[in-house]
Amino acid sequence: MKDRFENRVALVTGAASGIGRSVALQIAAEGGAVVVADIQDDLGAGVAREIIDAGGRAVYRHLDVASEAEWHATVAATVDEFGSLGILINNAGIAHPDLIEDTTHELYARVIAVTQTSVFLGHRAASASLKASGHGAVVNVSSMFGIVGGFGSAPAYAAAKGAVRALSKNTAVAWGGDGVRVNSVHPGFIETPTLGAGSRERLAALTPLRRIGTADEVAELISFLASDQASYITGGEFVVDGGYTAQ
Ligand code: NAD
Repeated sequence: MKDRFENRVALVTGAASGIGRSVALQIAAEGGAVVVADIQDDLGAGVAREIIDAGGRAVYRHLDVASEAEWHATVAATVDEFGSLGILINNAGIAHPDLIEDTTHELYARVIAVTQTSVFLGHRAASASLKASGHGAVVNVSSMFGIVGGFGSAPAYAAAKGAVRALSKNTAVAWGGDGVRVNSVHPGFIETPTLGAGSRERLAALTPLRRIGTADEVAELISFLASDQASYITGGEFVVDGGYTAQ
């Protein structure tokens, strides 16, 4: 298990914090070189430093996932630095708590840009490198609220995460013949800054396992799907939600 990502290069977006940080640490601990990408530069650089201090390989890159130009620059810099790019983890995303009546057109467009269009831009920018790697794997972090309607709030987030689910399957079909696998992961309530300040007890009570999940628990699934252990898995959607969507 310890060398699952030997000779592999991974780009992880939103890797300064939460789930993305856990994925970056796990892939690096198992031999992979990791590009830690985020807009929180100090935190992101700290994650890369943590990996290097532990004997791993990592570099931090500023990447606003809503910027096509920054995507192309980051993919080019990854190949320059580490020689290839075989694993893409599209994890960055932003949530919002609003009801549909309170969601302005501007807010809707911003959430779609960062949470949905970013995944399209990432697929496009990394396409040639993923195909050339011979072991391409993409994991797109959606949400359980990309599958079910949740609390009836956060319409832009729900729409974006539903689109990430469909785009993952669409690209999996397109790239199957090139040996690039694409899957989506759908977390439930996970203890990160994205979860906000609301009552954990309430969310735990709504969850069959009766607790909030951890970033590491989601990262375990993402790492599995990115590794050769998942070599026949593509176009799949995987919940890691303590049973929420089973109800
Ligand atoms: P988090 O806040 O810890 O991490 C999100 C990271 O994305 C942050 O480091 C942030 O700086 C980065 N980011 C935001 N906008 C960006 C941009 N434009 N470009 C690049 N990076 C940007 O939260 P998290 O829970 O680890 O979120 C990771 C993913 O998991 C998100 O897509 C989120 O929607 C999804 N998710 C989280 C939960 C949960 O309960 N925490 C549930 C379902 C899905």
